[in-house]
Amino acid sequence: MTMSTMQTPQNGQASAAAPRGLSILGATGSVGTQTLEVVRLFPDRFDVRALTCGRNVERLAEQIREFRPAQVAVGAPERAEALKQELSPDGPEVQIQTGTDGLCAAATRPDVDVVMGAVVGFAGLRPVLAALQAGKQVALANKETLVVGGTLVDQALADGDGELLPVDSEHSAIFQCMAGEAERRVEEVVLTASGGPFWDRPADSFADVTVSEALDHPNWSMGPKITIDSATMMNKGLEVIEAKWLFDLAVDQIEVLVHPQSIVHSMVAFDDGAVKAQLGVPDMKVPIQYALSHPARWPAPHERLDWSSLSRLDFQRPDDEKFPCLRLAYEALEAGGTAPAVLNAANEVAVQRFLDEDIGFADIPRAVEAVLERQPLQSEPSLEGLVRADARARERTEELALPVRN
Ligand code: NDP
Ligand code: MG
Repeated sequence: MTMSTMQTPQNGQASAAAPRGLSILGATGSVGTQTLEVVRLFPDRFDVRALTCGRNVERLAEQIREFRPAQVAVGAPERAEALKQELSPDGPEVQIQTGTDGLCAAATRPDVDVVMGAVVGFAGLRPVLAALQAGKQVALANKETLVVGGTLVDQALADGDGELLPVDSEHSAIFQCMAGEAERRVEEVVLTASGGPFWDRPADSFADVTVSEALDHPNWSMGPKITIDSATMMNKGLEVIEAKWLFDLAVDQIEVLVHPQSIVHSMVAFDDGAVKAQLGVPDMKVPIQYALSHPARWPAPHERLDWSSLSRLDFQRPDDEKFPCLRLAYEALEAGGTAPAVLNAANEVAVQRFLDEDIGFADIPRAVEAVLERQPLQSEPSLEGLVRADARARERTEELALPVRN
């Protein structure tokens, strides 16, 4: 994938340029609300034209009152009526659409320049593809879109004027390290992982992990799905696949190191032996803002690194035995075709079943592995093929009796 914006960042001066039309897909979530915090810091630079939610129409109504978008979309159609009631009787005028078509409409409005893709999961794929096909600049947090549909995203970028900028902190770090460098000089990238809350916990106690323990991430405050993915380390597996597509890397060029302090956000090793890293306190507003300001940097009051309290930075190899999800993701990437879509769908359902206290924490990788083994691979799926593989993998994971005996 070529990122047409691989330029050296210049000093960003406050410009009198016209505000850019912004659409936020997943505005009510963790990344969505932090994107609006960045917009509050730079009110003259953005015109919020469209916002979308899944079910949380109460929060969307507050955002509509504050940011006055022309259009919103509610993912769950049955929640649209509740939004109208939240806004009545004297609420601002706003066009309300629903479902995937509504999200696609919000992503493709002619007056939108930049789209923040912050929906969680497979639900983000179609709207992100639509935005790229409409020639939008897409700041992408929704890694599942690349995991499932990397080939289609690549195709959309090659065919049109769309542009992709990473938001995920590791990929933003790599993007920042690569600024001013030719891509062919990259020897490998090192994705750092916090290790999540259970890095030091003995694997034989994983069956007893509670939902609240798994939701208690040591360094980052995020939505529930990615927080569980961080605890199983599937998040890092998805990020390996995300990195492959964003930076056009071979599988063996992507390494993962556990770095419990989450200060080094990732590194790039070049073929002359030099290694560049990007550091900072763990705060998603920094990569969110960089995706929106690139190639400039805008002065902002985000928390600074306190070097005096930073006594050490540790790096360790991940433990594949204890955290099989990372291995499963590498295997799905190697297998290609529908395998990453199946991995992703099985994981989305298994995580939800864990959150619903229907299966145990250790069952998540078991479920993903069982579904990957059982579902036949399709090598060059179309969008419809991916949608079918996703649906089939979801059904299988929902029906799966756990623990699995292969
Ligand atoms: P959240 O769960 O906090 O937010 C998800 C957003 O997507 C919400 O607005 C939610 O709506 C909406 N949504 C969920 N399902 C649907 C659906 N079926 N149709 C339409 N909208 C839907 O997630 P995060 O903000 O944590 O994560 C968003 C993405 O960014 C994920 O892909 C994640 O991996 C990635 N990411 C997140 C980071 C973080 O710090 N949070 C860091 C790096 C990447 P509602 O709440 O109204 O139902
Ligand atoms: Mg990340």
